[in-house]
Order: sequence, then structure tokens, then C-alpha cells
Amino acid sequence: MKCPVCGASTRRHFTHGSYWIRACDDCSHKVAEFAAAADHVATTYDDDYFEGGAAGYQDYLSEAEILIEHGRRYGQLMTNYSKAGKVFDVGAAAGFLLKGYMQAGWYGEGIEPNARMAEYARTRLGVPVATGNLESFHADTVFDLVSMIQILAHFVDPRAALKVAASITRPGGFWLVETWNRESLTARLFGKRWHEYSPPSVLHWFSPKGVSKLASEFGFRELGRGRPNKWISGRHAKSLIRYRLENSHLNWPITSLIRLLPDRVNLPYPPKAGPPSPPLPSSPGCPAKVIICPLGVTHRRIWLKLSEMKTLPFGSAATPRG
Ligand SMILES: [Zn+2]
Repeated sequence: MKCPVCGASTRRHFTHGSYWIRACDDCSHKVAEFAAAADHVATTYDDDYFEGGAAGYQDYLSEAEILIEHGRRYGQLMTNYSKAGKVFDVGAAAGFLLKGYMQAGWYGEGIEPNARMAEYARTRLGVPVATGNLESFHADTVFDLVSMIQILAHFVDPRAALKVAASITRPGGFWLVETWNRESLTARLFGKRWHEYSPPSVLHWFSPKGVSKLASEFGFRELGRGRPNKWISGRHAKSLIRYRLENSHLNWPITSLIRLLPDRVNLPYPPKAGPPSPPLPSSPGCPAKVIICPLGVTHRRIWLKLSEMKTLPFGSAATPRG
């Protein structure tokens, strides 16, 4: 199996459940050894993913308020680089992030493989989310921003997905990518016990460099990076912790403790840190499209989120505003 980032050979590194996690001999990218069935997306992101706890959510729809707020922040973040315009949200689920983008002045649409979530977005939120996969998406228009929040690591073939994303991004447009950072301190401390190793939902574990390399293949340049400040509900936090500790000897003591946590409290995810690092200055002659990459850094409260994410708005060579 070749590395999906650099093409070098990979070797079996360790197992997670019934899956081998392979490591690239050259760039150290981690990838699940996985033969995707034709119904992989349909079965992995079925209703149970959004409601059954497990790898996904205990009750995704109850996260509405927090997720809309996150979307609003993404929208505001991106207006540092571009006038609010037309956004395309990949893996839009019930449309909450997109709704938040809209509250920040953006307009646009999204795509989501789970039919019920997409329908919820359309009928309950009035947000245009189509049912489908990015890889088979065709648009007769281009977007100012393609938003890929915690999506890239789920693709069987990230390069194929990014190819479509690039095709629907206008020249000078942006990508915002957020994904788990294999090089975060938490990931390194926990090694193979890092809780983001969760195939077959998550299939790739990137470094910031790996994501930048993939993006550069499509003419994007990194513009900035930082770590997202987020909140999740107590209910979601408990669900995540229970799932992630399923096979751990820490399961009993920790899950006993977290029962004390109320469902309706909002918790930092990961804990709040300082502002993202300022974007890199643009250079003359750079490609039309640029990537911003807020880099995951460490956090101290590992019981909540045993990974960090990095956020990568990719965008134009325009000098960031404000
Ligand atoms: Zn590699």
C-alpha cells in the first residue's frame, strides 16, 4: 500500500480493533489499511453515527446551538482574508455550520451523505444541503470558499476529494480545512493509544505538512494556521469519552467520574488557547489559491479531547484584511 500523501511505501504499524494502521516510510503519514466497500460512506455515516454515540454523536441535532456558533466563527475568521461570499460546506450534516456561516454574512450550500441530516438542513433550517458525496459532486458554479471541517481524514481517497474541491473553488478562492494533527503533543504522548485512531470512520492521520503538501498539488498555498477554539456539550463529551475508552483499562474509573458531568454544560474542545497565529504574508507571484493552516498545538485537559486539530483555510494571494 502506497502512502496517499507522498506515494512512498507504507508498513503495518499497529492494530486498532480489527484494522491495521500503516505508517509511511518517508513522511510518517498514518493510514488505515482498509478496503472500502461500495457502501462504506452509507454505512459509516448512517443515522446511528449521528444518534448512536459510538464513533459519532449521542444526539447530533442537540448540538445545534454550539455548531451554529462554530460556523459563525469560521465565517468571521475567513472574513479576515476575504469578503464574505459563496461558501460550500463539505460534510454539512444538518447544516448547522452553514447556518453559522450565513449568520456571518456568507451564503452558499453544502453536501452531506446522510440523507436524513441533509433533509433536516433543508426543511428545518432552510439551508441548502444536497445529499451526496463530494467525490461525485458536480457544480455548475464555483465558490469563494470550500469549508472542510473535520472531513479530510474521513475520505477513503483524500486526493480525489480535494480534486473535486479544487474544481469548485474559484481562482483566488479559499479552503478552510480542519483535521486532527498527528504531530500534536497529545498524539505523541498517547502513541497508538491516541483516541483519534478510530477507523473506519477516521482513515487518515495527517501532519500539517502532509495536508499542505496535498493542497499544494492543487495550486493552493498555505496562508495561515492556528488552533480552533471550540465548545462541545457535556452530553457529547461524555459520549466521546465513553466510546474512546471502550477498550481501555481507564474506562471504568473515568466513565464513573464523567457521569457527574451535566448534559447541558458546554465544555471547551479543546480548551481555550490564545488567538491563532497571524497569517503568513503573501508573496508576489504565488499561486492564485492559497492555504491557511491554523496548526494544532497542545492542550492540558486531555480527558476532553485527546487530539488537536489544525485548521487550514486555503485561499487567495490577497493580503489578509484587518
Ligand atoms: Zn508518505
